[in-house]
Amino acid sequence: MRFFILFLLMMHFSGNLTAFTLLSSDPAWNEDELVIQVNNSGCPVDLMIYIGSALDVWNSVSTAKLKLSAVESSTYTIANAQSFSYPNVPVIGCDSSFSSTDTTVGSGLYDYSSGASYGYVRINSSGGTGDIGNYGDITIKYILAHEIGHMLNLGHSSDPSALMYYSFSTLEDVSLSLDDIRGYTYLYPKSELDGDYFLGCGLVKASPSNTMPILFLLILLLPLTLIYSLRIKDKFLKKQKILSKFQSL
Ligand SMILES: [Zn+2]
Repeated sequence: MRFFILFLLMMHFSGNLTAFTLLSSDPAWNEDELVIQVNNSGCPVDLMIYIGSALDVWNSVSTAKLKLSAVESSTYTIANAQSFSYPNVPVIGCDSSFSSTDTTVGSGLYDYSSGASYGYVRINSSGGTGDIGNYGDITIKYILAHEIGHMLNLGHSSDPSALMYYSFSTLEDVSLSLDDIRGYTYLYPKSELDGDYFLGCGLVKASPSNTMPILFLLILLLPLTLIYSLRIKDKFLKKQKILSKFQSL
């Protein structure tokens, strides 16, 4: 029996060994709809071609409230984003300042300061080893989706099947693992009242039309209750009278 309990405990803790992490324990982006500014200048590939499908990966999480979209903009630069110049505005752009021998293809960051969220994704456009132009369509989509995960405050997961795992070997498609979904939902939980009810469970808000039948029932029940209580009282008094007669005998 003791070994069985030990086995159950081991199973429980080993199940929790692989788990998402957060970059910051502070609140994440506070919007339900987040518009990402994409600066394509200096990029060897058109990021706008890939960004939609990378965002769809996260937008597919039905248990999360956050909806992501992107617009192309030259106003927001990655250099200013790095110096935290854009409160509550996420920015993605190419950066040629990566070392030519650096194998990093992209990096994403989230931070929170003085009541505002900051985040950006830098894509390697150095022309060196990690340049985004060296990679194919699926890898670019994967890199964008992974770095966007960081920009949304997710850290690396120890689950090798997770998009937020620190590394990848072979890629056939870009999808989320259950661990990614759990992490994203933890950060951006969807309120139950926002969803569709399939089974009719959940809270039912009382409306004036719902309270009217209850009031009508109460008005009807009040005299009946009074009559009933008077009848009980009457019976009690009669009983008392009989008892006192017996006592007087
Ligand atoms: Zn990463």
